[in-house]
Amino acid sequence: MNKPILTIVVPCFNEEEVFLETSSQLTSILNGLINDNLISDESKLLFVDDGSRDNTWQLIQNESLANKFVRGLKLAKNVGHQNALIAGLETASKVSDCVISIDADLQDDITVIKTFVERYWDGFDIVYGVRDSRDTDTYFKRTTALGFYNFMEKIGIKLVPNHADFRLMSRRALNELFKYKESNLFLRGLVPLVGFPSTKVYYDRKERIAGESKYPIKKMVGFAFDGITSFSIAPIRFVTLLGFLSVIFSAIAGGAAVIQNIFGHTESGWTSLMISIFFIGGIQLLGIGIIGEYIGKIYKEVKRRPRYAIETDIFSIQGTDNFDISNLDYNRVKQ
Ligand code: UDP
Ligand code: MG
Repeated sequence: MNKPILTIVVPCFNEEEVFLETSSQLTSILNGLINDNLISDESKLLFVDDGSRDNTWQLIQNESLANKFVRGLKLAKNVGHQNALIAGLETASKVSDCVISIDADLQDDITVIKTFVERYWDGFDIVYGVRDSRDTDTYFKRTTALGFYNFMEKIGIKLVPNHADFRLMSRRALNELFKYKESNLFLRGLVPLVGFPSTKVYYDRKERIAGESKYPIKKMVGFAFDGITSFSIAPIRFVTLLGFLSVIFSAIAGGAAVIQNIFGHTESGWTSLMISIFFIGGIQLLGIGIIGEYIGKIYKEVKRRPRYAIETDIFSIQGTDNFDISNLDYNRVKQ
């Protein structure tokens, strides 16, 4: 087998604090792999700037002039981690034999990248990085994440537990992944659906090297909700079941009330009436909300809007390692 061209895709949203450290650490990983004859020397790092409002893009651009491994893709606006990732994967896969995705904050252990590539040589198309322990995450993040995986498993969504978006995929696996055209992207749910020989590599998750999590609680809840409703109709079934149970319950309660009436023990009935109004009302609102969630999803999907737009691509424009950045379109705009 020829030495594969590897591209490491790194989505970056306001990551100026970590960028230089990340690119230098990943550069030495690439150098090591090239020296070990595991990958081609045309391998690259592709930093995807997801509409950062800080200096991230400036840094990527400067580094791409100074470091032959560094390339960048600037998205036209912030589209979120998953969309930024697919933008990078699609761009990278055109010239790469295998692609690794990793977060910019290097919470994932980059030393296992070598093992990823070895597994690729062993013939695996997908290599999942799996966290052994989550000691460095906050207690809150740890428990909510664990609860989430358990819940997902219960409602029948196949995820690789404790695997985030740190993985290697071969070009053919990526090409299959790209056929999933949904706008509501939840990659860690989609990748296992692709199939192909796959394996796991375990590692310890570390602290962010600098900066703050770009996933505030609101985004986290949204992400979890998307994950569930994109892959399962279990929540709708649950509402149906709840409605069914409450109908049976009301029938029994109604029967009891009629019998009591016949024997003359008529209740004033206000309490039970109020409770049942609230109960039924609550169930109805819950049901409408969940169904609305799915209709919203369908609405988003049928529009078939693009998942991202590329503003500047300093990955594909040049075949060689030397290119003239002053020729790029966006320089004309910036002047
Ligand atoms: N990210 C992104 N777009 C966003 C939010 C995050 O590209 O809208 C990137 C971010 O720069 C990082 C990765 O996604 O490389 C994961 O984010 P973060 O480390 O903040 O998430 P956490 O590890 O806290 O879940
Ligand atoms: Mg992180």
